[in-house]
Parts: sequence; C-alpha cells; structure tokens
Amino acid sequence: MNNDRGNEQYSNSYRLNIVHLYPDLLNLYGDRGNIQCMRMRCKWRGIDAQVTECNLDDHLSLASADIVLLGGGSDREQQIVCTRLQKIRQDLRDYVEDGGSMLAVCGGYQLLGHYYDTPEGRMEGLSLVDLYTEQGSPRLISNIVLRNESLPDALPYEIVGFENHGGRTYIGSNTPFGRVLYGHGNNGKDACEGVLYRGVIGTYLHGPLLPKNPHVCDLLLQRALYRKYGVSLADFPAPDDSLEREANRAVVSRFHSPLAP
Ligand code: GLN
Repeated sequence: MNNDRGNEQYSNSYRLNIVHLYPDLLNLYGDRGNIQCMRMRCKWRGIDAQVTECNLDDHLSLASADIVLLGGGSDREQQIVCTRLQKIRQDLRDYVEDGGSMLAVCGGYQLLGHYYDTPEGRMEGLSLVDLYTEQGSPRLISNIVLRNESLPDALPYEIVGFENHGGRTYIGSNTPFGRVLYGHGNNGKDACEGVLYRGVIGTYLHGPLLPKNPHVCDLLLQRALYRKYGVSLADFPAPDDSLEREANRAVVSRFHSPLAP
C-alpha cells in the first residue's frame, strides 16, 4: 500500500485505539490486513492510531477502545474464543450499546448473535445483536458484491469481497450491511449480507475487506472519531483513493454488470 500520501504529521490531538481481538486464533485469509488499512488511513490524515493485540490469555479492557476487530476462524477456534468472550460479555455489550465501533468478520460475526448451531452442538453466542446462525451444506464460497442501502452518504458505492462459510445467518428485522448483487450473503436466500447495529458492522466478507473498500474503513473511523472527539473525518485531509476506487470498480464490473451509478 502506498504510504507516501496525505498528511503524516500527527497533531497529537487525535488518537484512535484499535483493539485486535485474538489475532493468534482469528486471522483467516489475512483479516489482519484490515488493521493495516485503518492504521494507514489514519496516518494519511495525521491521526495517530495505536493497535493493541489481545491474545487469549491477556486481560482485556475496552475502557479506552475506539475500534474493535473480531476476525474469523474455524469452528474449533471460534469455540475457544467464544468461551473466553463469554467472560467479558457485559463489557462488550456496554461498549456496543455505547456506540463503540466494531468490525466482526465471519466467525466473529456469528458470535455476535445468540447461537451458532452445528451438528456437533450449539455454540452460545454473545447476544450482542439479535441474530442466529445454523450450519448448512454446502459451504457458501464466492466472490461477493454488495450494495448498502441504509447509509447512502457513507457507503455510496459497492462493497466487494470474498465469502466462505458453512453458517447460515438470520438477522430478523435488523438492517443488513448490504443487499447481495453477486454471491450468497447471510444465508443464500434473502439477499441480505451482514448486519449493521449501532457502531457494529458484522459481515461474512473475509480477509482484506477494508483495503478493498476504503469507504467501509472510513465509516468505522468516522464513527470512532465522532464518538471520542465529536469531530468528523471530513475535517481531515482526505487520502487519494483513486487506485482503490479503480480496483473496486474492476471487481464490480467483473462480477456484477452493468455498474450502478
Ligand atoms: N465456522 C464458521 C462457518 O464456517 C465461520 C468460518 C469462518 O470464519 N470462515 O460458518
């Protein structure tokens, strides 16, 4: 990623604390790339970004957290993490209800809900969001293109990515992250993908979701900045996203045509 653009002088006035939960277990397809993207997009604007990696045995405090990343993992890793997260469920719930920014991907997304049922048994979720997941067959594996319909100002163009999950997630009356233009989404049936709840984005889009979709990255940063300082991301110098935008459009036109305006 180009690291030579934008304002890299920190004003020392603005700092975002990013907490990466369990990177030792939940880092499928390089979910860590999302952290790099947040860091760089802060740096280009002169905003300091501190990343705290929280591994399984670490004590976790969300008191100073501004953005939390919960990545994806196999069912086995998900079960280990789930048991650990139950112990801090109330902290996580307080953080979410207070409008804390969070990106939860795939296995992490499923854990936001009430449960994930598999033939081996039920994995109790955190019930942070009213949704549930049941394992189905076959796995839903595809490139994916979404259009968000609830936040047209923040997410004005398509969201692209890759999905690989056995779980079918049902979000009831919650707002989806996007409507599926290409791919499977939450369950392959209702054309919904992911969920938006307060400051939380839950999604099946794996790996480097944010580098492929800088508008999604900026939504997380905007919410975190506003919650902490009451300022808007638009008040900072915007990075030149022309390359990212071109790459995004190339994926959209490959899998979904014609391009939406
Ligand atoms: N174990 C979950 C599923 O297959 C999530 C897997 C993942 O994070 N890729 O549905």
